[in-house]
Amino acid sequence: MLKLNPNISAIEEETAFTVLDRANALKAKGFPVINLGIGQPDFTPPKHILAAAEKAVRDGPHGYSSPQGLAVLRDAVAATTAKRFKVQVSGDEIVIVPGGKVTFYFACQMFGGPGAEILYPDPGFPPYRDAARSSGAKPVPYPIREEKDFGFDAEEVLSLMTPATRLIIVNSPANPTGGVVARSEMTKLAEGLLKHPDVAVLSDEIYSHFVYEGADFVSFLDFPELRDRTIILDGWSKTFAMTGWRLGFGIWPKHLVDYVKKLITVDHSCTSVATQMAGLAAITGPMDEIEGFRVSFRKRRDLVVKGLNGIKGVTCRLPGGAFYAFPNIAGTGWTSRDLSRELLEKVHVALLLGESFGANGASFLRLSYAASEADIREALRRMKAFLEGN
Ligand code: PLP
Repeated sequence: MLKLNPNISAIEEETAFTVLDRANALKAKGFPVINLGIGQPDFTPPKHILAAAEKAVRDGPHGYSSPQGLAVLRDAVAATTAKRFKVQVSGDEIVIVPGGKVTFYFACQMFGGPGAEILYPDPGFPPYRDAARSSGAKPVPYPIREEKDFGFDAEEVLSLMTPATRLIIVNSPANPTGGVVARSEMTKLAEGLLKHPDVAVLSDEIYSHFVYEGADFVSFLDFPELRDRTIILDGWSKTFAMTGWRLGFGIWPKHLVDYVKKLITVDHSCTSVATQMAGLAAITGPMDEIEGFRVSFRKRRDLVVKGLNGIKGVTCRLPGGAFYAFPNIAGTGWTSRDLSRELLEKVHVALLLGESFGANGASFLRLSYAASEADIREALRRMKAFLEGN
């Protein structure tokens, strides 16, 4: 009898990918599926990125890079980050990895393990919980509150810390809610963390280029007193519409970089070098197309939120960032599990059930509005007709 490591058998499926498979299966049978499930931009990466990738595939470099990533790319990431947030960052604090997820996975490996507790947002990105679990640590959810525009109450978060807490994961702008944590709460959390010197912070800032007017995004780089235990997660997937390229970076405290390099050499040696060259073109090239992505996301956000609030029993806050809306469906009488299933099977709108993002997401749905305006309008029309019974 095979005996699996219980830390591995405890890992749950990520619903986004299950729904994607089901939506694709229905589509293949000819059903007119509109996919508002998976969280990825519907744009193509800017042409200069594609050209750099082509050149790298043709001309090289073709060998391994340093496990930490190409120095030229790390320096460029450091320079753009330093300029963007007006802080000092050097290339030797940057670690290039194949996708955004790897940085929090490694942080959980580094600070987790039996007996450790890792705090994570609920509702929140499901792999946080499973990365914590797979390390052997106990994942401890902290509430994300609708009434705080999907931010948190710092005092409430701090009250969940115990002597076993080793890591807290923070995500703003957030998946699945689009919430941007208020500056006041982020500052209170940072101040509170001074009393917990054993706790590291993983700040997932992968959506930080998609923040809309009125929201006040705060990077954890803004708290220099915590810098020696803060890990920033970012990458190319969302910003440059490169989810399938698998390219991300972490900004790590220098004293932890050697441990990350060792994890990389055990796990994957280095990130694809051609992809790193494409990433270099992305962050050193013009950003006007990315601003264009942001402007279209904002327009679609307004469209989706207005449409959702026009459906009986549904209410939806205006999210400050990312490309997700998280409507509350308590007034419809449906559970999010049943409603999301029926919407996919009966009217062919793929979206995610709030419950899959944690217990606090139970009466919500997640819609990714990274879809064309025409698709968004049609999806809203189908949802309204289904829920209002006409
Ligand atoms: N962090 C958050 C909050 C996300 O929503 C996602 C992807 O959905 C990731 C990280 C992972 O990004 P990547 O596809 O680059 O691994």
